Amino acid sequence: MKQINDFPRVQLGIFPTPLQKLENLSREFGKNIYLKRDDMSGVALGGNKVRKLEFLLAEAQKQGVDTVMTTGQAQSNHAMLTAACANKLGMHTILMLKKRGVTDPKGNQILNRILGAEIEFYDTDKYSDIYEEMARRTADLAQQGHKAYEIPVGGSTALGALGYVECFRETMEQCAALGIHPDRMVGVVGSGGTYAGLCAGADLFAPDVKVTGMAVDDDPFEQITAQLKLEIGSLLELDRPLGNENIEIYYNCGAGYGVPGPEDGAAVRYLAQQEGVVLDPVYTGKGFSLFLRMLREGAFAQDDTIIFLHSGGAGGLFAIDLP
Ligand SMILES: *Cc1c(COP(=O)(O)O)cnc(C)c1O
Repeated sequence: MKQINDFPRVQLGIFPTPLQKLENLSREFGKNIYLKRDDMSGVALGGNKVRKLEFLLAEAQKQGVDTVMTTGQAQSNHAMLTAACANKLGMHTILMLKKRGVTDPKGNQILNRILGAEIEFYDTDKYSDIYEEMARRTADLAQQGHKAYEIPVGGSTALGALGYVECFRETMEQCAALGIHPDRMVGVVGSGGTYAGLCAGADLFAPDVKVTGMAVDDDPFEQITAQLKLEIGSLLELDRPLGNENIEIYYNCGAGYGVPGPEDGAAVRYLAQQEGVVLDPVYTGKGFSLFLRMLREGAFAQDDTIIFLHSGGAGGLFAIDLP
């Protein structure tokens, strides 16, 4: 087996991120509820994509790349963080975004402009259209003597997901230092890399920890996660493939990706008013909203120790209304 440390990695964020107990929530529900603060990952407004980009951009650096291209919807946190991280490495960023969501200079679009990214919108519903265009651009840039690196939506390749295998390991180390052992870790599923990485991390480092995914889009994430886990397993050259036994995903799509409902808004306000922690409208707000509903319905055992991953997304708060 290869170790995570065998892969090239460039230091972009500030790790480990804090592991913080939510005292008021824990008391209210008779559990030990912790937040893993990846919203404090230390680049721009923080968020989960930094861990993935530490592996992806290290690979880009190794290839001698001067331009990074990626995609997402208009308010993509991943796109914004790619621009921020690429800046640290002196690379130019081209964001080839879907013309979906809030394209005006609000939220992450303000940040993309501040960060100096080249921004293009494509009026398509299919990422495959954008990937074709990316390949064309890479070829054009090569003719002009540039070398480009293409990052798919969310940075959710097996290599990017290694960031969340490492996050799981880091979290278990923090738990050990606190003298606690989690029963469960809960994370949001958007393009799937974060959750697949956490599941793989649990397989490798603590198979008794359950890993729950809260999906905020309606893609078939059980299959996507299983496939990514296979790819993570081969990247790590494991003796046996990683199975799909620990995949457990619940869906909170509501009115659609990027559209929070009233229950989601209430959940964001609840956590802010109980604990002073602000979630986001697209990912963590919807994921936490479902987690909160499950807590209220008694889905978890008394005295369980549960860690919710705050994966960031602050930019969205300033672009998307929270009903
Ligand atoms: C991208 C994102 C997620 C989902 O992560 P994936 O690896 O794409 O599944 C969750 N929360 C926030 C804030 C994000 O930006």
